[in-house]
Parts: sequence; C-alpha cells; structure tokens
Amino acid sequence: MSDNTRYRVAVAPGDLRVVQELLNTAAKNGGRTPDLLDAPAPAAQWLSAYGIAGDSPGVSALRTLRDTLRRSLLERDHGVGDTGPAAQDVPAAAPLLLAPDGTVRLDDRPDGIAALAGRVLLAVRDAQLTGAWRRIKLCRNPDCRVAFWDSSRNTSGAWHDVRTCGNVANLRNSRARRAQPAPGR
Ligand SMILES: [Zn+2]
Repeated sequence: MSDNTRYRVAVAPGDLRVVQELLNTAAKNGGRTPDLLDAPAPAAQWLSAYGIAGDSPGVSALRTLRDTLRRSLLERDHGVGDTGPAAQDVPAAAPLLLAPDGTVRLDDRPDGIAALAGRVLLAVRDAQLTGAWRRIKLCRNPDCRVAFWDSSRNTSGAWHDVRTCGNVANLRNSRARRAQPAPGR
C-alpha cells in the first residue's frame, strides 16, 4: 500500500506523486506512526515499489533529502522553523542525460536510490518552474503534517482533510473562544 493511500490524501499528478510518497514516509503523531525509512524492513518494502533492492546504499541520504523538502514546505506554508541543525544544501548524484535534441532528462538506466532521488528532484524543479509546487502542501495540523495535493482553485487548502484535521482545529478554536471571558465584565 502506498503512503498516499494509507493517509487517503489527494494525490499529486505525474512524478509529483513520487515526491508526495517520499514526503509521506516521515513519522507523524509524535512518532506513533513510524518513519518508514528509519528501519530496514519498512524501508525495503517502500523501496521495492520502485524496483530498488532494500539493502541499497543511500537510504539515509534519501531521508535527508525528504526532511529538507519537508522543512522547506513547513517554513513556506506554516512559518515553522526547525529546531534541528541548520539547513544545508543536499548533494544529489542525479543521473542526468543530455539528448541529441538538447533535451535534459533523467537517465533511467541505472536503478537504485540515486536514480530515485534524481527523479524526485527533477519533479520538484519542474513543479517549481510551472508553479505547481505551490500545490504540494503539508497539513496544517501539527500532529499530522501529511503531504497532500491542494487542488483548490486559489491554492488556499490547508488541511489534508477538512473533515478530520480541519474539524479538530475548528473545535479547538471554538473551545478557546468559549473559554475566554466575555468582554466588559
Ligand atoms: Zn491532516
């Protein structure tokens, strides 16, 4: 089962779906939903969906790439800075090719994690150029932070699911409002 279906989120188009799948391997609910790339067995299972052997080198580099993408999305949409070490550039040995007609594309012959990372980074770059990157978001609920595709017309979506995460927030807000003393008394 993919992580997008695990969380029942709106799925991004094209290779952004792979980016979204990667983003959603992260732990959530304070670790109660574990990080799929943090232990050999779940990592091998996740990688096998991309035809990558579970013992391939580079899992921790892929995790760093994922965490840096997630950090950038948290800062962009939620103004949340990370308390961890300062963000750094993530090197990626993306196997790129220049075709005779001048097209730059991914060399799909090598498999393995470097090729997957290249596929992810090219999809991110393409989306950043077209503006579609604005539609990849992490849920506003701090306990959730699932990556979803925001298909709303004005790119205003904040929750991966308004019926669950959105409702929790609305409930919390209305409780907070009721808890405040009425003005002038
Ligand atoms: Zn959510």
